[in-house]
Amino acid sequence: MSAYEMAKQMEASEVIAKVASAGIKEYGVYAEPLADKWNAIIANKPADLIVAAGINNSDSKKVLLGLVNIKCAQILEGIAITAQVLGATDMRLLLPEDETELAASLKEAADSYGITIENTFISANAYREHGLFHIETMLAVAEAIEGTYEPGAYVSVAGGELKKVAYGTKLADIVDIDDAKAVEIGSHLYTAAAAAEMVIDADTILGDGSINVLGNDKCLMQEAEKRLLAARKTSCGKCTFCREGLNQIYGHITDITSGKGAKEGMPMMKEIGDAMTFSCNCSVGTVGADFVLDALEHFTSEFDAHIKKRTCPAGVCTCFTTIYIDPNLCEGCEECADVCPVDCIEGKAGHIHMIDDFDCTKCGKCIEACEYEAVIQTTGRVPKLPTRLTKCGKFKKR
Ligand code: SF4
Ligand code: SF4
Ligand code: SF4
Repeated sequence: MSAYEMAKQMEASEVIAKVASAGIKEYGVYAEPLADKWNAIIANKPADLIVAAGINNSDSKKVLLGLVNIKCAQILEGIAITAQVLGATDMRLLLPEDETELAASLKEAADSYGITIENTFISANAYREHGLFHIETMLAVAEAIEGTYEPGAYVSVAGGELKKVAYGTKLADIVDIDDAKAVEIGSHLYTAAAAAEMVIDADTILGDGSINVLGNDKCLMQEAEKRLLAARKTSCGKCTFCREGLNQIYGHITDITSGKGAKEGMPMMKEIGDAMTFSCNCSVGTVGADFVLDALEHFTSEFDAHIKKRTCPAGVCTCFTTIYIDPNLCEGCEECADVCPVDCIEGKAGHIHMIDDFDCTKCGKCIEACEYEAVIQTTGRVPKLPTRLTKCGKFKKR
């Protein structure tokens, strides 16, 4: 017998009790006890209640959408069970706008439960009086009724396959933290020391379920920039704090990565980010500043290095590096000058080439082009270089 058929033979209160005793909480970014959420909906139920399930808008990499591929039947059953318990008249599975092929492939199965599939960016406002759930929560509901639920959550480590991790598992048992600078879990950033102590349980906010280890070769400012850019692309722009907040924080971070950061920007980012967490209508805005807020709290040394010491600890921010041609290695082959897009390499065949630092954009094309490894990128001191055209092998340090 399917979970849905089993639930149909139960009183709503029995189903709620079963979900409560299993300790199921909403997955994604809002970890409230599911039974409490159900009871609150029942207490204020509109006549035309809709039960809908999807992934968080902030899951732009669609990490947890993978559950639809491996657990589709149970997710649909979870929606149907939830609708039955809450007395809903309308059931929906909400898929990202561009997942029309996936929607078509699931239509027949969804129809059999009376569930409509919509390809949409989820408007949390439209479901404010209704029941909007994460698909992982719906999966847990079906499993709880059929008696197969094991407390845990689905994660993807370093972009790998989704796998269920039992609550009580030490994070260090599923990721290698030894050489980590930071560990990113969903939208949040943790120090390696905090991650080493972390145990995944029902209160752990796993967000989109992705877990990534950031090593010392990663610049947290550059990583913040990438995440803010992704959030800006996902944002629908309707909430001022999401639209403007993401723009403003992104501006402060790009100032930092381009060597123009100011320490006054740090409290401003904190103020804007804090306001976003409670002023935005969906997870794109509410968690969009998490990475920066966590970096501000736990990685102030990264900000200080970029803003005060004008250096990038990971050596990634090119504005803090210098590119020069080692006069002892240059063979005067002219390859670097040929590829330079801004024409800032001076030289001629058989002569030591020289880079005009003022015009160099640090694109790195000359480094790739030089088969003699004579083009050097450094965050340290630059040795004495020729100031006029010199034949290869004739440069003398004085
Ligand atoms: S938080 Fe951002 S993405 Fe979500 S509704 Fe508001 S503007 Fe749109
Ligand atoms: S720096 Fe390299 S690529 Fe450029 S002229 Fe010298 S040897 Fe050739
Ligand atoms: S890094 Fe780019 S811009 Fe600078 S000298 Fe090399 S090729 Fe030219």
